[in-house]
Amino acid sequence: MLGNMMSKPLLISSILTHAEQVHGKAEIVTRTVEGPIHRYTYTDAAKRTKQLANALNSMGVELGDRIATLAWNTYRHYETYYAISCIGAITHTINPRLFPEQIVYIANHAEDKVLFLDLTFVPLVEALQDKMGTIEKYVIMTDREHMPETTLPNVICYEELIAEESDQIVWPEFDENTAAGLCYTSGTTGNPKGALYSHRSTVLHTYAAAMPDSIGCGNADALLPVVPMFHVFAWGVPYFATMVGAKIVFPGPHMDGESLHELIEGEQVTTMLGVPTVWLGLLDYLRSKDIKLSSVKKSIIGGSAAPLGMIKEFQETHDVFVLHAWGMTELSPLGCTNSYNQAMANISLEERYKMQLKQGRPVFGIEFKVVNDAGEALPHDGKSYGRLLVRGPWVVSAYFRNDDMSSFEDGWFDTGDVVTMDENANIQIVDRKKDVIKSGGEWISSIDLENIAVSHPDVKEACVIGVKHPKWDERPLLFIVKQDEADLTKEEILDFVGNQVATWWKPDDVVFVDELPHTATGKLLKLSLREEYMDHLMG
Ligand code: ADP
Repeated sequence: MLGNMMSKPLLISSILTHAEQVHGKAEIVTRTVEGPIHRYTYTDAAKRTKQLANALNSMGVELGDRIATLAWNTYRHYETYYAISCIGAITHTINPRLFPEQIVYIANHAEDKVLFLDLTFVPLVEALQDKMGTIEKYVIMTDREHMPETTLPNVICYEELIAEESDQIVWPEFDENTAAGLCYTSGTTGNPKGALYSHRSTVLHTYAAAMPDSIGCGNADALLPVVPMFHVFAWGVPYFATMVGAKIVFPGPHMDGESLHELIEGEQVTTMLGVPTVWLGLLDYLRSKDIKLSSVKKSIIGGSAAPLGMIKEFQETHDVFVLHAWGMTELSPLGCTNSYNQAMANISLEERYKMQLKQGRPVFGIEFKVVNDAGEALPHDGKSYGRLLVRGPWVVSAYFRNDDMSSFEDGWFDTGDVVTMDENANIQIVDRKKDVIKSGGEWISSIDLENIAVSHPDVKEACVIGVKHPKWDERPLLFIVKQDEADLTKEEILDFVGNQVATWWKPDDVVFVDELPHTATGKLLKLSLREEYMDHLMG
């Protein structure tokens, strides 16, 4: 017997409509690409989004068309998110930090029809344009006054595109499983792979992300997504902030410590979200000026492991709780969060920090399973580690236009992460499967060693890879970027790390470097280091 309830499809347009009707006066503030601060309300945003949607319809954009963006976190990018998906086309965000040949590959693979781009990326797109065969029109996201001279064909100015359009529209209704958004993984090996989200998966992810013990977001919050809108839809901020009517503060392309600080204080940001690297810059700046943050309550850190030193500094200097979270492009991206919970209430700060190093517990909707290589479930003892498999309504079931099903088994998606799970269902990422160091048949976590190394005051960044060893197969090699003017020796850092781990985990050598390679999403790019240093210990 079926229930008697209405079966209204879960569509992204309902999020915007709700915000317009219920949270009309809440603000969206942007530090624009052109420079000045732009400020408007959800009512204004909804009107302009409808104008853009009408413009897309006039342009001939149809259900299922892929419309690409190459843009920073701004109000115009926000408008494209909604306008494209709400008419049934697919918002395809492209990460400008990818290698140019990857950008070309992605645009062609997706068969993008129109590209919306920020002023910053005009030269990049001019250089690639003749290789991106399917794009018919380029919309530069600015006004007439700032339109550049360009060799791009069929160029349209964003403000001119929407100016004459009506701000009324009846959003179409279609199947909630219709594709809404497309995002490619940055892929450290091989070509990027596309995760194609649906309206249903996006709306469910939005509910889940807003819940108090998940990312947690309410109407009184002011959110600063430093995580880019070109990477996994800024972790869903443009959706869940809109659903609850929180203020959104978009940093545009200005993500240095000084600009972020000005925006945080000026707009009284309560919650900020980003990968560890951006917070290094902010914390450096605050330390150098001896400033404390006054309004921020929570810093959501994910994408890479949040280092202990960062968790401590946010708490002790700025009274900011670090909410460590784990996710991936294939999960829209939210998988688990380590929110403030009962177990943290009556313990010392030092003990709490240890808990916060874990990535947390699955949010409702996502199921986790930790298995060994034979596929057998491992005990939840916080020690046994194995592959993390996940499933749920916002997890990909295949890659877009890709026959490779090697990451999918029996209805589960293999994340490629090696984790432990404790008795309270907290997971801790031990390593990426491909980064774990196999020394004499035992596993060493490169992430653990990196975390310890960066907790040394003279260390700015650390990276550990496994390199060939004549006796042990693989041994850890540590790379260090020193703090400016630090006078750190090999012996000092090796002792510092060695004293905090089992003897056989101590790295065999240290290489001091000026900088480390990163992927387009700010993760350490270990592949090139491995190639260069593979024989470092082979004598
Ligand atoms: P991309 O695929 O573009 O590199 P993703 O955001 O999809 O970017 O990367 C997901 C991976 O990032 C995860 O599988 C995991 O290895 C790593 N990751 C994400 N969050 C964390 C975290 N909090 N701690 C450690 N690793 C993380």
